[in-house]
Amino acid sequence: MTTEDLESIKKRIGKVYLVGAGPGDPGLITIKGRNVLAKAEVIVYDYLANKKLLKYVPADAEFIYAGKKGGSKHTHTQAEINQMLIDHALAGKIVVRLKGGDPFIFGRGGEEIEELFDAGVPFEVVPGVTSATAAATYAGVPITHREYTSSVAFITGHEDPTKPNTNIAWDKISTGIGTLVFYMGIKNLPSISEKLIENGRDPKTPVLVVRWASTPEQRSVVGTLENIAALVKEKDIKPPALVVVGDVVKLRDKINWFENKPLFGKKILVTRTRDQASELVELLEEAGANCLEGATIALEPPENWDELDRGLAKMNHYQWLLFTSINAIKYFFQRLHEKGMDARDLKGPKIGVVGIATAEILLSYGIKADLLPREFTGEGLAESLIESGVSGGKIFLPRALDAREVLPESLREAGAEVDVAPVYRNVRPEGYEDVRQELEANQISVITFTSSSTVKNFLRMIDAKDEHELQKLLAGVKIAVIGPITAKTAIANGLEVHIQPQTYTIPALVDEIVSYYA
Ligand code: SAH
Repeated sequence: MTTEDLESIKKRIGKVYLVGAGPGDPGLITIKGRNVLAKAEVIVYDYLANKKLLKYVPADAEFIYAGKKGGSKHTHTQAEINQMLIDHALAGKIVVRLKGGDPFIFGRGGEEIEELFDAGVPFEVVPGVTSATAAATYAGVPITHREYTSSVAFITGHEDPTKPNTNIAWDKISTGIGTLVFYMGIKNLPSISEKLIENGRDPKTPVLVVRWASTPEQRSVVGTLENIAALVKEKDIKPPALVVVGDVVKLRDKINWFENKPLFGKKILVTRTRDQASELVELLEEAGANCLEGATIALEPPENWDELDRGLAKMNHYQWLLFTSINAIKYFFQRLHEKGMDARDLKGPKIGVVGIATAEILLSYGIKADLLPREFTGEGLAESLIESGVSGGKIFLPRALDAREVLPESLREAGAEVDVAPVYRNVRPEGYEDVRQELEANQISVITFTSSSTVKNFLRMIDAKDEHELQKLLAGVKIAVIGPITAKTAIANGLEVHIQPQTYTIPALVDEIVSYYA
C-alpha cells in the first residue's frame, strides 16, 4: 500500500463529536456545541437532550434517537450505540453524539470514547452545562457560598445505599462535604437520606429536589433530610430530577429568579400560520411561559394534477380564469412552471381575483387582474361576474380541494360552464394530536391569536364535533387576541375573549398577558 492509499483511507474516516447539550434550556448549549451540530451528518441524541436543539442540525442529516428512558425500555443498548457511532464514523461521516448536560458527568461519555479509541475512530468532546449546577441555579440555589459551604460533590443516586458493596463512602461524604448533589436519586431518595442521617448529617439539613430543571416544566420541592422523601412522594416528583443537600438551599428564598417569572408554570398555546416569526414565542418564554406551538393548517399539493393540466391544455377555451386565494395562485403557477409554461400561456381568458391581496400576488407573476369585485368575497366575485354577463361563458377555477361551493354554484346558476381544478389541499399539521390532548387534559392556560386566520385555522384544526365539545375543550382556557378584528372573528366563532392589548403589537399582547396574571 502506498502512502497515498493510506492518506485516502484516512480521509474517508469520519469523526465523532461527543457534545454536551446542557441541562434542558436550549440556550445553555455552548457555542462550540451548536457549531458542531451544524456540521453533523449523523446525529445520535438522547432522551435528556432538548429536541429543540435538533433545529441546528442540517435537515438532510440522519437523525437517530438513542433515548434511554428510565432504565428498562432502552431504545438501543449501550453496545449498539457504541457500534453505531463507530460504523458511521468509519463510513466517513461526521457523527455528533448529543447527550444531556455534560457528557462526562454520569453520561457514560467516557465509555463511548474508550470504544471509539479502541476502534481507531477520531473524536472530540465538547463539555456542557451539567444539570447539577443548572438545577440548583434555576431553583434559586448557588451550590457554593462562602458563608455556607466550600465544597460540593456530585454523586450518583443510582446505587442503592442499602447494598453492601457500595462505591460511595457514605461515612466520609455525609459530614465531610458541604453541598451534596445526587443525580438519578429519586428512586433511592428514602435510603439516601437515611444513610446521610445515619452517618451524622443533621436531619434538619435543607434539601432541594428539582425536576426537569431549566425547562418550562421545572418543578421543585424543598424539605429537610427528614421529610424530603415523603414530600417527593406526595408531590409525585418523578425522574429526571436532582437532589441538592446542604445549607445553601436556604438561599432560595432570596434567589429563586426563574420560578418567579410572571408566566412561570403557564402553558400557552401559540397558534400561528406557518413561517410566522417566533417573536411571540420568544417574548412569552422570556416571561417564563411554557409555549406549545400549534402549527395551524398546512398545505399540500393535490393528489394529482389531472384537472389542472386539462384546463391548462385548453386555456384559450375559457373566457374567465378566477383566483380566490393567494395559495391558489402560488400552486397554480408552480404547476404552470413545472410544465415548462409561463404567464404568456395564459392569454385568452380574462382574469378575476377575489381581493387586493390576490391581485398583488398575481401582479408579482406579471399579470394584472381584469376584475376585482366590489366586495372581497367569493359571493362578491360571483356578483360582479354575473353583472358583467357570464351566461354561456366558460370559466376555469383553480382552487383549494375543499373550498366552498358558493362561487361555482352561483356562476352555474347564471348560465356559465365552470371547470373546477384542485391545486392544493389543507392537511392537518403534525402536532395536532398533541394540541388536542393538552386541551382535553386541561393543561393549557392561554391560547393566543394574532390574526383572524389563526382563529379559523385553530378551529378547523381542533375540529370539535359541535359547540358543546368546543366549550368543553376550552373550559378554563383564557383567549388572548392581538386586536379588535381578531377579537371579532373569535367572538363570531363562539370564543370568549379575555385578554386584548390597547395597541395591536406582539410585545403589547405579551405585556397584557403578563398583567392579566399579575
Ligand atoms: N450527563 C448528565 C447527567 C446524566 S445522568 C448531566 O451532566 O446533567 C441522568 C440524571 O441527570 C437524571 O436522572 C437526573 O438526575 C439528572 N438530570 C439531567 N437533566 C436534568 C434536568 N433537566 N433536571 C433535573 N435533573 C436532570
